[in-house]
Amino acid sequence: LENKLVHSERLASIGRLAAGVAHEIGNPITGIACLAQNLREEREGDTEVGEISSQIVDQTKRVTRIVRSLMSFAHAGSHKQASEEVCLADIAREAIALLSLNRESIEVQFLNLCAPTHCVVGDPQRLVQVLVNLLSNARDASPPGGTIRVRSEATEHSVDLIVEDEGSGIPKAIVGRLFEPFFTTKDPGKGTGLGLALVYSIVEEHYGRITIDSPADPERQRGTRIRVTLPRHVDTPPAP
Ligand code: ADP
Repeated sequence: LENKLVHSERLASIGRLAAGVAHEIGNPITGIACLAQNLREEREGDTEVGEISSQIVDQTKRVTRIVRSLMSFAHAGSHKQASEEVCLADIAREAIALLSLNRESIEVQFLNLCAPTHCVVGDPQRLVQVLVNLLSNARDASPPGGTIRVRSEATEHSVDLIVEDEGSGIPKAIVGRLFEPFFTTKDPGKGTGLGLALVYSIVEEHYGRITIDSPADPERQRGTRIRVTLPRHVDTPPAP
């Protein structure tokens, strides 16, 4: 419990810091991107200037992406939570619309998500963020042509949202660090290390818990299965 409290407090203070940093960095970056764009237009025909200003614009996009994930991470803890009946099928539909998974020839299968009983009380936008982060990690880990399975399972008191991939799996040595803010094994341009920290905060806000099985398929020693267990009502949290 003590560990959990320390973790939550760390997340909260990192959230505040992130909000400040994101705010301070967001505006100048937008300025730099605009200036580079102007330069390209003014010096049309100068290929060297064109090339360099495109690079500047690309790099600012990268920073903007990091700033955005810092913002959503920071906002997770500071906004009043909505509380309404949310069906996992709707969450899945929205999450998929936000990610362009088809581009990378990865198949996403939804199994059993439409069951009308697979609903919880919570904040729909934040639950969409949970699935978006789990799916984008699954996508990044997947081999070309891999399949990601998203399904739900319900018991009397809780509903599980399960995301399973056929990727490389998570090495045991890093499992303990996955929820640490800024922990990432991805290239600097790709990962911010905030995805699972955000997932953790949101699931905690919903009195849920997260279970990680990696490899998901012990026979073939590969893949990751992440299970998010959410209580149907906040007055009936799942058994520890
Ligand atoms: P990021 O995606 O920016 O790296 P996350 O907090 O979402 O940050 O993830 C942290 C790390 O957890 C990833 O860099 C990766 O090493 C590992 N990870 C998360 N999900 C998976 C997965 N499905 N398969 C393999 N590794 C994963």
